[in-house]
Amino acid sequence: MLRALLSLLTLSAATGDNCASASPNIVVVGWSCMDMISYVPALPAAGETLAGSRFSLGYGGKGANQAVQAAKLGSRVAMVTKVGDDLHGNSTIRNFEAHGVAISHVSRGPPGVSHGVAPITVDQSSGENSIVIVLGAGGLLSPEDVRKAQPAFAEAGRPPGGVLLAQLEVPLETTLEALSLARAADLTTVLNTAPAPSQGLPDALWPLVDIVVANEPELAALAAAPTATNADVEAAAAVLLARGARSVLVTLGPRGCALFNASEAPVFVSAPRVVAPRDTTGAGDAFLGAFAHHLSSGAAIKTALRRANECAAASVEREGTQSSYESAASLAA
Ligand code: ATP
Repeated sequence: MLRALLSLLTLSAATGDNCASASPNIVVVGWSCMDMISYVPALPAAGETLAGSRFSLGYGGKGANQAVQAAKLGSRVAMVTKVGDDLHGNSTIRNFEAHGVAISHVSRGPPGVSHGVAPITVDQSSGENSIVIVLGAGGLLSPEDVRKAQPAFAEAGRPPGGVLLAQLEVPLETTLEALSLARAADLTTVLNTAPAPSQGLPDALWPLVDIVVANEPELAALAAAPTATNADVEAAAAVLLARGARSVLVTLGPRGCALFNASEAPVFVSAPRVVAPRDTTGAGDAFLGAFAHHLSSGAAIKTALRRANECAAASVEREGTQSSYESAASLAA
């Protein structure tokens, strides 16, 4: 099955130029927000007030991060999102443009609805984080907004190898519409199950997904099963495969990732060792963006997984989210 999936992916290698005007090879449907990052000596307990040492603003949202990572590596990316009709919405659009992400299908929320925000706390000693999200305009991205972006799906699907990246930060019916349109346009559908849904996912969703990408807590929540050992992870992934997903890709933090499908042996790929992680914020998105980039560039699956691990590990070594991501230029250097 994996080989069949890969045979659909062509060898149109990315050039390293991220040109927003050319046809996209990746469509991202998801949330964009401003990250508001405080750096602290330890994550605060409930009710505790802590003195942070520093604060910074950054661009975020899983969809936006994944889009920017793929574009930084050279993919042509079309973003489908809704931004606030305010200062943060304006600067988010400028940020997409600066990275060459196509904004034809970025729409505005109604007046009075803020751009999405994500206050993030980063523990400076361990690199661990805690995050709150306020969806704002991005939470209003609708199935109708996705249908208006159908030309981008069609363009990405014209040469084989196009990829849809979707997550669970926007309304579920919007993600479902994106998966359906992508399937109709012959894109490889990649669903990042983040954040973990509190109520599971509908049966209709799984057969629309070529590759489900979950971290360990998300996999545990979706499968209602433990993920403490590699054998646990494999058993939990089998639960999702049984629901109809074609492949399940699990990110394992410092241990890398593992890919499962019904007909082939599991593939475990180690991440490079990071001696002193500085900030894990957005590592999962770096992984997804890089994976989609290499997949749509025609890389073999193990190569795509190894390179996604490398990009994600590199992002952990630096502070910030999108600013910590590798680019084609930084890799060449
Ligand atoms: P986050 O929520 O922090 O963005 P996540 O929980 O979605 O991340 P993880 O499984 O923790 O996802 O990490 C994603 C990928 O990042 C891993 O598969 C690995 O490639 C890389 N990674 C994360 N942490 C480390 C680390 N300490 N050392 C090396 N690589 C790491």
